[in-house]
Amino acid sequence: MSGSTNAFEMAQAQFDHVADQLGLDEQVREILRWPAREFIIRIPVRMDDGKIKVFQGFRVQHNDARGPNKGGIRFHPAETVDTVRALAMWMTWKCAVADIPLGGGKGGIIVDPATLSNGEKERLVRAYIRILVRNVGPRQDVPAPDVGTTAQMMGWMMDEYSRLVGQYTPGAITGKPLGGGGSQGRTEATGYGVIYCVREAMKHLGIDPKTTTAAVQGFGNVAQYASIGFIEQLGGKVICVSCWDRNDKTAYTFTKAEGIDPRFLKGITDQYGTIDKEKAKAAGYAIEDGGAWISKKVDVLIPAALEGQINGDTVKLINSAVKIIAEGANGPTTPEADVVINQRGIFLIPDFLCNSGGVTCSYFESVQNDQNFYWTKDEVLVKLDHTMTQAFDSVLGMSLDKKVVMRDAAYMVAIAKVVKAMELRGWI
Ligand code: NAD
Repeated sequence: MSGSTNAFEMAQAQFDHVADQLGLDEQVREILRWPAREFIIRIPVRMDDGKIKVFQGFRVQHNDARGPNKGGIRFHPAETVDTVRALAMWMTWKCAVADIPLGGGKGGIIVDPATLSNGEKERLVRAYIRILVRNVGPRQDVPAPDVGTTAQMMGWMMDEYSRLVGQYTPGAITGKPLGGGGSQGRTEATGYGVIYCVREAMKHLGIDPKTTTAAVQGFGNVAQYASIGFIEQLGGKVICVSCWDRNDKTAYTFTKAEGIDPRFLKGITDQYGTIDKEKAKAAGYAIEDGGAWISKKVDVLIPAALEGQINGDTVKLINSAVKIIAEGANGPTTPEADVVINQRGIFLIPDFLCNSGGVTCSYFESVQNDQNFYWTKDEVLVKLDHTMTQAFDSVLGMSLDKKVVMRDAAYMVAIAKVVKAMELRGWI
């Protein structure tokens, strides 16, 4: 596989690897290796000082054979069209593996959100929708929050879309705030989804979850609910979490051998996922360096912070006790580390299966918007568990059947579903 660090080249290399194993037709590959549509836009915004600033934005629609394109919008100073392309392609596979009737899309704007006032953020996201109004919507492409964007921004975008088309259209955007067309359970969905997958993996491996321990990287939305779920749903123990300290500009691991209390830690964590060190220390947590989480003697590792964290160097630090790696983050493991993990026989639950709870709940949100009837949190979480358990089973079945690791099996399940939809629609 390619050693490239360009995200899109990596996404294409992963696809090619499985396409080879599947013996996929060359012409079909040519369709799937590239996005179907790409919009590269310039967005003029009146700033608070009265001047106009022009931002560069992207929206990429990879494949909509199975349903409308779906994917977040990122605000990131280093955004590139290739990152957005890769993420759009991964969304196609994520929706297919979760078996939700959606395709893959992604958007981005080159901007650091911390440099914008609230008014500037609102004018920027409204302008993004004004430019793309004919190309997004509940039956075309449904944006959602992602790195650097929030539920409030989704509310503004939904409002702009509704005004432009002349009718209330909540299903045009997901990840909206509760009370503004959002779904119960969205906050918990990704982290709990990780834990539903871990539970199924333990069933398969014959491990009693109550005897297990986990180490988690990150303490943002995904890591917080994965930690809570590991303890409250599985009965296991989480012995550390980590975070990036925005003040010190360095990462720390927060460790308690007898088990952390994620609800307490959540209470002393800011909106960006930085834990208050002094309060944690006072509560008996040992503060270690940011890399300490990976070498802990635990049964389960849950990387839930950033991409590329388990790489050629750090993979060597993984303790021999580790049996499961559950990829809460997108792309936390490099292809080089994957090889070592597979050789060591660690059961890895790949990102686009493991963290598909978020997009699945987004799909539930648009279903509720369409029917204008809203479910309770319990109803949402029961449906989420059912969908994710089925997705896990189908990937595990493929893995056992074809004697391939879970990542390749997930690609096989996803690609087969997209190819079938293209056939049924007469595209190929
Ligand atoms: P977040 O911004 O809420 O939290 C990120 C956390 O990672 C923070 O606690 C931050 O301090 C920590 N972090 C950053 N750099 C670190 C470092 N070097 N070492 C240790 N910790 C570090 O983000 P999130 O929504 O929890 O997303 C985490 C990952 O999960 C991302 O890869 C994201 O793409 C992926 N993901 C999120 C969702 C979702 O619904 N939120 C869905 C699918 C995938």
